[in-house]
Amino acid sequence: MTVRPPEVTVAYWKKVLILTGAALVLGPAVAAGQQLTEEERFRELRNAMVRDQIEAKGVSDSETLRAMRNVPRHLFVAEPRRANAYEDRPLPIEEGQTISQPYIVGYMTEIIGPRPGMKILEIGTGSGYQAAVLAETGAQVFSIEIFAFLAAQAANRLDGLGYRVQVRHADGFDGWPEEAPFDAIIVTAAAGFIPPPLLDQLKPGGRMIIPVGSIYGIQNLVRVDKREDGSLQSETLLPVRFVPLLRSTG
Ligand code: SAH
Repeated sequence: MTVRPPEVTVAYWKKVLILTGAALVLGPAVAAGQQLTEEERFRELRNAMVRDQIEAKGVSDSETLRAMRNVPRHLFVAEPRRANAYEDRPLPIEEGQTISQPYIVGYMTEIIGPRPGMKILEIGTGSGYQAAVLAETGAQVFSIEIFAFLAAQAANRLDGLGYRVQVRHADGFDGWPEEAPFDAIIVTAAAGFIPPPLLDQLKPGGRMIIPVGSIYGIQNLVRVDKREDGSLQSETLLPVRFVPLLRSTG
């Protein structure tokens, strides 16, 4: 009969204890590490997007670049499209609409130069991404969306991410008279002409950026400045392609 020396048993249990301890300590750490990696992967893609697609094409406003580095664009598209969220192209969202190309978002944001305390109106909330970029700078953002579903989805999403944006479901052609005047107005759907109510709701010294043109033909981004005396000055900047500014029939 062989008797196992007690030292072996003790050593054995010590090993078991050490391994169990290691698993208990390392298991959650490894799991957390994986989550961090996913987040970090998107952050790296985002930094590359800002560097290669936005800064490289001439956008230089530091607040615009900082905001776009911080807003998680992948959370503004449906899950199957997240992997494409940092490519330089528009992506489809619900209701046949699109989230604009990142470069165009950067370009338009730089034109209006959002800063803390500025009051900004956006027409065409869509996914809520442009509104989030504006809010990230500390500006006070009001955004109007014509599709009820998109307005509700964007409001929830922005709220969940901690962006304080007021979203209204309405036809943005009429602007938001109760909150006017605005330091800046950004229209993210193409209009045949500039809606007069929006010009009225722009502060003297304020600025608007809007794609103007037909849905089938040529559209251009137009910058409109309202001088202190109330007169308007506009400049055509860049050919673009946006979804049309719709009109509510009710
Ligand atoms: N800024 C959005 C993308 C805009 S796509 C983003 O960052 O995701 C244009 C949006 O304008 C669409 O969601 C469309 O439904 C909306 N839209 C079109 N006509 C409108 C109108 N008259 N008033 C308000 N929103 C309108």
